[in-house]
Amino acid sequence: MEQRMLLVHAHPDDETINQGATMAKYVARGTQVTLVTCTLGEEGEVLVPELEHLAADRDDALGAHRITELAQAMKELGVTDHRFLGGAGKYRDSGMVWHEEGHAVAGDDVREGTFWRADLTEAAADLVEVIREVRPQVMVTYDEFGGYGHPDHIQAHRVATYAASLAAARSFRPDLGPAWDVAKIYWGAMSESRMRDGLRRLRESGDTTTFEGMDPEGPLPHFVTSDELLDAVVEGGEFVEAKMAAMRAHATQITVDGPFFALSNNVGNEVWGVEFFRLAKGVRGPVGPHGLETDLFAGLG
Ligand SMILES: [Zn+2]
Repeated sequence: MEQRMLLVHAHPDDETINQGATMAKYVARGTQVTLVTCTLGEEGEVLVPELEHLAADRDDALGAHRITELAQAMKELGVTDHRFLGGAGKYRDSGMVWHEEGHAVAGDDVREGTFWRADLTEAAADLVEVIREVRPQVMVTYDEFGGYGHPDHIQAHRVATYAASLAAARSFRPDLGPAWDVAKIYWGAMSESRMRDGLRRLRESGDTTTFEGMDPEGPLPHFVTSDELLDAVVEGGEFVEAKMAAMRAHATQITVDGPFFALSNNVGNEVWGVEFFRLAKGVRGPVGPHGLETDLFAGLG
């Protein structure tokens, strides 16, 4: 079977942070990997001092720059098919504010033309066209809360979910291609036990600030999933270097130094090379020793 995987993400860099090792691993084994990014990430903060002028509240030129960062990141991961939903710049980054409960939320002043304000059917149709062209057996996106509440992540979840359903209906927009039913849909996830373990190691190493000083034994944010709700794990340890290189490519967004990344040198592949998933559609295939699928195509023959 020719394997094809589609990932739907909100901003350039989300794909690398969440599934960089998975993407590199599947590319290496010959899977056709397609990335759809829904916005250019125009509202991102700029971490490179010389490029601060690109920010939305100054030159508002970050989007074009992040296209080049994403292209470089995809080169590092070996992904040759990456697209922007509806074409680059059609949907603008909606920005976000922090809610007092510690997750992201849409601001009061989300503008026209942003992804959050997009018409759901129109945005889904843009993705239906890709689904019907690529015909992926596996699709990866966010959970219904977009991991941590960012409106663009929530919208990416909604668009991906709706598009998968519409793509399978022969009578929906036949002009967008023949119907295609995505067999398995996954939501990216973080393992609670891994998170607690990582926090413990950070605290033991003397770092008390990363993740806002979160207590390894205390309550964890929404994006962490209890282990019994996980369905699949992709062990991509040998692709950690590629993932790190892709993270570095997103230079305006990610600083690959500091204690959090130093941690990765110590515990290496475990933290960055292992990516977890929840199965949202389809039938669970055979599982590995930890009770999780170890291949997103498991059971598809
Ligand atoms: Zn994002």
